[in-house]
Amino acid sequence: MLVLGIETSCDETAAAVVSDQAPHIRSNVVFSQLAEHRPYGGIVPEVAARAHLTHLDPVIERALEEAGVGFDDLDAVAATGGPGLIGGVIVGVTEAKAIALARGLPFVAINHLEGHALSARLVAPVEFPFLLLLVSGGHCQLQIVEGIGHYRRLGTTIDDAAGEAFDKGAKLLGLGYPGGPLIEKLAQSGRPDAFNFPRGIGRRDELDFSFSGVKTSLRYQIEKMTAAQVQERLPDLCASYQQAVLDALVRKTRAALRQAGGVYRSLGLSGGVANNRTLRVLLEREAQGERIPFFAAQPKHTGDNAGMIAFAAWIDPKGCDGSAGFGLLVEPSATLAPLAPDDLAPAHL
Ligand code: ADP
Ligand code: MG
Repeated sequence: MLVLGIETSCDETAAAVVSDQAPHIRSNVVFSQLAEHRPYGGIVPEVAARAHLTHLDPVIERALEEAGVGFDDLDAVAATGGPGLIGGVIVGVTEAKAIALARGLPFVAINHLEGHALSARLVAPVEFPFLLLLVSGGHCQLQIVEGIGHYRRLGTTIDDAAGEAFDKGAKLLGLGYPGGPLIEKLAQSGRPDAFNFPRGIGRRDELDFSFSGVKTSLRYQIEKMTAAQVQERLPDLCASYQQAVLDALVRKTRAALRQAGGVYRSLGLSGGVANNRTLRVLLEREAQGERIPFFAAQPKHTGDNAGMIAFAAWIDPKGCDGSAGFGLLVEPSATLAPLAPDDLAPAHL
């Protein structure tokens, strides 16, 4: 079975061809709109929607070409139906529906977060149930992945996502966009204990995240310094800021693991922030402490890509039966799962 996947929910225009036979990913083409958004220091939704319109056709053509297949070889067409920026999601869904209608194929709408959630499984058949830390520019969640199609959200951010915290921090430091990789690079030559930034909210057993405090604290720190001092201390500022964001992620993940009392069979990490090497090392250590394996999505699948969307389409039994149908409207605010109620806390899984 061959599925064409399309991803246009944010600032990557992406298409992929995925097979149900390993190696699953036959092609995975991502056109990053970074250059279009960089002058604004962040993603501008209207710019993104227009760029998707321009780039999607050639990206799909390339994905088919690299996979060595044509439209006639496809068995289904999948696209991100949400969550995401509505303009972009409409472009992707409309294109996918048009291809499916013209070729008499099922159209499958995929929840973008399900794509991220399952992307660690592209590396290995990660055993269920697993605890997933999903950290990107738009999302920051702890999810219990009980099985394909079965998710429970343990915690989410009450303000900024972790990637957003890196991006906004980098903007305050005058580093450019996207901030995560730039901060990580400078942090390598800085001291993580040089500045003391706050570690987010709440009691340790609460699993929600908050990153607006750390960002504000960085702003106050910068305001106390001259421009020359900021330049001179950039590595220390980056290392300390990164440490504060990562500590918050690791602490909540640890709390979720402890609360579950050994229920999880593995720990997974996905989303753009999963590229951060320090975060990978820290979470690997947490998993070792629990004696469970740690799986991180591969760098080529951590950011937004269509491979994870097409993969989610065929792996979910309800995926490619076409039940989403052509009547589906886009769902820009879709969530992956309801908040896990107290009586369904991990200990009861
Ligand atoms: P979204 O599409 O929701 O913005 P992506 O999955 O495309 O998310 O990931 C992009 C985000 O990941 C950006 O916020 C970026 O700063 C962050 N990011 C990428 N690489 C790193 C890194 N090495 N360290 C920290 N954050 C990173
Ligand atoms: Mg993105």
